[in-house]
Amino acid sequence: MDIEEFRKAGYQAIDRICDFYYSLEKRPVVPPVQPGYLLNALPDSPPEKGEDFGIIADDYQKLILPGLTHWQHPSFFAYFPTACTFEGMLGDLYSSSTPNPGFNWSSSPACTELEMVTMDWSARMLGLADHFLNSSGTGGGVIQTTSSDSALVVAVAARSLYQRTRPGTNLEKLVIYVTSQTHSLGVKASLVLGLECRILDVRAEDEYALRGETLKAALEEDIGKGKHPFVLIATVGTTSSGAIDRLDEIGEVAKDYPSLWIHVDAAWAGVTLACPEYRKVARLEEINKYAASIGTNFHKWGLVNFDAALLWVKSREDLTDALDVTPEFLRTKQSDAGAVIDYRNWHLGLGRRFRSLKIWFVLRSYGVEGFQKYIRKCIELNRHFAALVEASPDFSIVTPPSFALTVFRLIPRGAELSEESLNDLNRSLYARLGARHEVLLTQTLLNGTFCVRFAVGAERTRKEHVEHAWQLIQEEAGVALKDWTARVAK
Ligand SMILES: *Cc1c(COP(=O)(O)O)cnc(C)c1O
Repeated sequence: MDIEEFRKAGYQAIDRICDFYYSLEKRPVVPPVQPGYLLNALPDSPPEKGEDFGIIADDYQKLILPGLTHWQHPSFFAYFPTACTFEGMLGDLYSSSTPNPGFNWSSSPACTELEMVTMDWSARMLGLADHFLNSSGTGGGVIQTTSSDSALVVAVAARSLYQRTRPGTNLEKLVIYVTSQTHSLGVKASLVLGLECRILDVRAEDEYALRGETLKAALEEDIGKGKHPFVLIATVGTTSSGAIDRLDEIGEVAKDYPSLWIHVDAAWAGVTLACPEYRKVARLEEINKYAASIGTNFHKWGLVNFDAALLWVKSREDLTDALDVTPEFLRTKQSDAGAVIDYRNWHLGLGRRFRSLKIWFVLRSYGVEGFQKYIRKCIELNRHFAALVEASPDFSIVTPPSFALTVFRLIPRGAELSEESLNDLNRSLYARLGARHEVLLTQTLLNGTFCVRFAVGAERTRKEHVEHAWQLIQEEAGVALKDWTARVAK
């Protein structure tokens, strides 16, 4: 493809993307395809001779698009949102038009410096303390691929710091702390590092938040046994129910254990910190006071297209001390002089994508006000949904709605059902909803209680989409209940 052919194919691609967005609402959220649909449609080997790009582009429309689950669909209420804005798309397009691995400052000065700037902008927008800013010279922010990468990098840094400050520690006695509600990234980090992971209990009556007393008891017990808990992964907005760990109590307990690194995983809910009215619930003050690191994904609810996992640390040296490996060919005079950041020492890989460009586009185009407006709109839509659930005599909210997430279940009026029967009934409601392609929700299990999650966040979701989803939920609940009653009567 030459430059002029690219120009033509590029215009066509943008046209088709626009048409796609005009038609998105009318498409199914979940594609009605069976496993193997694409495998069977494509040849086993690449073509011997190059093909005309027009045919390739048509095949994308014909074969690929119909097999996509539309996370941007206004009726997508599953998992968590995956941000998508035109500004973000353009950022990715420009960034891939000048690919470079950006591993140190001189490999492309703009990549490093724009990342430093956008990470500071984002930190300021979220209200993070000055010690997390790149401009502090001691802490700083870096864009990772995912929050799982962030947690792993943090665990590596925390382990290395612990070893350096306590030489002779038996590595086999190190323990990572998480709760039963922490995202799997905690257990995964422990698997990768070959370390023990202790899963702390949380209770329904605490809304699934980690309490200080639970942490304290675990620390006393483990240290008594000669173990070394060195990092706690706390969560602001758990995946299952949006629970927020009690960072106030955790911070107080941790004062007696200064070698415990507190990482805050706010992958989904961290963006709410952009709105001053949510800073208290999202525990900004405690994050700034107690956290050694905090991460949030702008690629979830933060308007920046996948991937953009933002991670801030209070001490950049803790990252570089753990991860800096500098062979001769990677040395530069700017790095040797300590004049620049070499981001390759802030994560696992060497090369990295130029992700800050899309963040820059989004933050400039929306402004802080536009960003806040979007977060508030999603929370407002979720409030509307929660109010509909609450007003229904047949449904119940399981744990208080968290930002733009509601966890609910069917509890039919007048029926005296056992917990087991209720789980059974809700599983069948969820299975019925899963068969409807025009809306998507996800299930979860909270300490044995089967529930359905409703998460708002797609950029195009409006009130009527929420109401339509609620109508489908009620319809399917009616049928599920009838089926279930007939089954039990037999
Ligand atoms: C989505 C989510 C994650 C996982 O994020 P990745 O970036 O895909 O690793 C981790 N923690 C929480 C709380 C999440 O919501």
